Amino acid sequence: MIGSAMDNHEIIQPIFSTFASVRWSMIILLLFLVEIALGQSPCATMDKTENALYTDSAYKSSMLEQVDLLEQFESGVVDVASRNVKQVTLPVVVHVLYESEEQNIPVEQIHSQIDVLNRDFGWNQSDKQKIPSIWRDLGRDSGIRFKLADVDPDGNFTTGITRKQIFQSDIGNGDNYYQSSLGGTDPWPRPHYINIWVCEIGDNVLGYTFLPAASFPVNDGIVIDPRAFGTTGAAVEPYNGGRTMVHEMGHYLGLRHTWGMEEGECTNTDYMSDTPWQREPNFGCSRFPYVSCASEPDGDMFMNFMDYADDTCALLFTKRQVKFMQLVLQTSRVGLIHSPAITHTDEVDNHKLRVYPNPVDGRLLVDGLQNGISQYDLFTDTGLLIRTGNISASNSQVSFESLPNGIYLLQIGSEIHRIVHVIQ
Ligand SMILES: [Zn+2]
Repeated sequence: MIGSAMDNHEIIQPIFSTFASVRWSMIILLLFLVEIALGQSPCATMDKTENALYTDSAYKSSMLEQVDLLEQFESGVVDVASRNVKQVTLPVVVHVLYESEEQNIPVEQIHSQIDVLNRDFGWNQSDKQKIPSIWRDLGRDSGIRFKLADVDPDGNFTTGITRKQIFQSDIGNGDNYYQSSLGGTDPWPRPHYINIWVCEIGDNVLGYTFLPAASFPVNDGIVIDPRAFGTTGAAVEPYNGGRTMVHEMGHYLGLRHTWGMEEGECTNTDYMSDTPWQREPNFGCSRFPYVSCASEPDGDMFMNFMDYADDTCALLFTKRQVKFMQLVLQTSRVGLIHSPAITHTDEVDNHKLRVYPNPVDGRLLVDGLQNGISQYDLFTDTGLLIRTGNISASNSQVSFESLPNGIYLLQIGSEIHRIVHVIQ
């Protein structure tokens, strides 16, 4: 946040730092006020996070630490050096829960959503010229990409999509969607997969998730209505631009709404020093400048992904928002980076064989072997041969089970694959 209202925040901060219990009460109070003020809102993240904080003491205490991290990030005590952030690809599993055939969304709709995520997190959106020029330079490639998981929790190949017919309405609004025994679908291991449930939620809610902390609630993941998911199939205007998911992914990676934790004031921080103070959410497509706080002559950044603009008018994560998401990926959600759930692109592009998962924990699988038996050689990263064995199309596993963590080179014929071995 910028502007003179910063002074007020600096007065509030020592109170938060000194009295943890008071601070906790204020967090709950702020969340509660959001609920009252909004009533029905297209995004239920604050409401659902509040519920989880009440019922999960581990999540609650780790959220206090997360707020500390946000405050330190806002004040510049902790930061992320951009040069240290490489491009990362995060594994996604989409659980489709459908009551009607229309809700059993086509695979093209799912792919269209992944494409929008990669486009917008990659700063490749063609409509960024609509961002007022004073803020356009704040946009950048986050280095964060998304991919449907290739490998399921048992190590088998997967499309990254599950489907289940259900017999209850608004399943996304209770506790059933994430429990197969109650009609939903169990999450895949939360540290290593972004679980997305596409199902009806009700109450005009389009989607929600849970703010990250070191501990996660049992239902951690993202829930989204099929009508606000992707750009084709069941998606409907004005939510058929895939940006409800971009907004929720922002929350999933730690971002708050641009108006802060409480609406109706110009002093509630979102912890981002490059987003203006904002009184309340903006809906639809506002005209620049729209000024809700007198301290901000350029007005609200209503085209930020973390506001409530229509899909055609939501356009931007700022530099600081991107940095905080990167920080979350190096802390509370680091398991997504070291996930066995996706096949990482090999460094040499002309490989005919596919080896997965990589990183590997236990056994590596090899796809694309010719008929007959092939020999493999396994080397340390310094080139020391440590094992030779045989594989074939019917027995294509290479075991890493007795080996220490580290980087290995696997040679099969003329191909050399770089394998990362991580014991989970
Ligand atoms: Zn939201």
